[in-house]
Amino acid sequence: MFKIGCHLSSSKGYVHMAEEALSIGANTFQFFTRNPRGGSVKELDEADVEKFLKIAGENGIDVILAHAPYTLNGCSADEKIRAFALSVMQDDIRRLEKTPGNLYNFHPGSHVGQGVDTGISYICDMLNASLFPEMTTTVLLETMAGKGSEIGRSFEEIRRIIDGTELSDKLGVCLDTCHVYDAGYDIAGELDKVLEEFDKIIGLERLKAIHINDSKNPFGSHKDRHEKIGQGSLGTAVFEQVINHRALRELPFYLETPNEIEGYAEEIKLLKSLYNLRADVPRL
Ligand code: FE
Ligand code: FE
Ligand code: ZN
Repeated sequence: MFKIGCHLSSSKGYVHMAEEALSIGANTFQFFTRNPRGGSVKELDEADVEKFLKIAGENGIDVILAHAPYTLNGCSADEKIRAFALSVMQDDIRRLEKTPGNLYNFHPGSHVGQGVDTGISYICDMLNASLFPEMTTTVLLETMAGKGSEIGRSFEEIRRIIDGTELSDKLGVCLDTCHVYDAGYDIAGELDKVLEEFDKIIGLERLKAIHINDSKNPFGSHKDRHEKIGQGSLGTAVFEQVINHRALRELPFYLETPNEIEGYAEEIKLLKSLYNLRADVPRL
């Protein structure tokens, strides 16, 4: 089954997001766990969660993706920023256990001049202080464009974070099509080769979600500017390959394109028309 959704505002709660997703033909969605610029959060509305779980069950919404705020930087040089990142991650993970078995994505962070090695060790510290054996959420490291001192610009950096994390069976990866192309992985020209490399370095079994975005910038720009599907440097034909690829087609896809809800509805319709329902072949 084609699992497709987009980023939605979480300000009105889970039920509202589920209804909004269903109204645009989506069967999953992504949302920020709190204001993307960080900060405090309302306590979970248990009645809203309960009603959401019912609606999700009845409508085949089987996996949703919670996104950590952009301000979460677990490898900052500033100890206060690292402590804030840790408290947000711990609190998010605790809250997500109310909607068990879903995905939590975060940006590995920016080492801001301390170097990749120090950055990676701080990220591992945060994960080691956050993950616990009984948790049901899978925590995803997002592949990044390599803007500034961003960590996660290469599959090798992601691998090192996984290797430095004790409960690494709780970790997966979210591949962002705009970011990897921007980072220098040519998914337009050599999708098979990029996925083989991913498999060799990280392992395709770790890949749990795809952020499906076109890019405003050419290959290898390290800029991280998303574009609407088909209007950027990747183009519609590449997305047809991506959503139908045997290694990817069963994964959930999340649009993070510059759109309002009507634009997302159009993109979902387009992607559904490109998804080949009969090509039911197993993953690599
Ligand atoms: Fe992201
Ligand atoms: Fe993304
Ligand atoms: Zn991005």
